[in-house]
Amino acid sequence: MAIRLPICSFDAKTGILCAKCESKLKSGEITKADVEASKALIHMAERFNELNRVTLRRSFESGGNYVLEFDPVDVPHLRSNPKLFQELDTAMKGKAWVVGSGGSDRKFLEDIFYPAKVVTVNTVWLTDGGKRTKVIVPARRSERYIGDFEKLRNMVKQARGSSCSWRPSAKRCCEPEARAEASLGLSGRG
Ligand SMILES: [Zn+2]
Repeated sequence: MAIRLPICSFDAKTGILCAKCESKLKSGEITKADVEASKALIHMAERFNELNRVTLRRSFESGGNYVLEFDPVDVPHLRSNPKLFQELDTAMKGKAWVVGSGGSDRKFLEDIFYPAKVVTVNTVWLTDGGKRTKVIVPARRSERYIGDFEKLRNMVKQARGSSCSWRPSAKRCCEPEARAEASLGLSGRG
């Protein structure tokens, strides 16, 4: 078994694209982010055997940070090794989020927040027929990621075609702990 990538494994190893992959890049079928992610992952696969049964579908980049879309069945498998996630950030030279391809907004947000557990999900239908999905996670678990969420905005636009905003909510006296909120809105869809 070997990792499946948007470009040829050989290209990923050597860092040089063959004519076929080069034309895919030119036509926009694949992106520069796909190439960068493929190169990093193929080298990681030598040390992390977990990677040798997964499929990278698409990659999105903004400001040197990445969202990597794998087959949904691959996601729990990738999470089975926490060291893999640490190394992924190093290998990508930025922050990298692993998400399942396709799936609902809720699933997408759950993947983004992982390992924090989503405690509340709200879906609000907007007057224009679109909707906004908001998830809430305990701040205790999400604190260290809060600075990172700003980096997501652009990539969520690319990956989901929707706007993304997050905010920490103020600690209320009736709640045992402060909560952080992230919301993802889809406008004009339903
Ligand atoms: Zn190729």
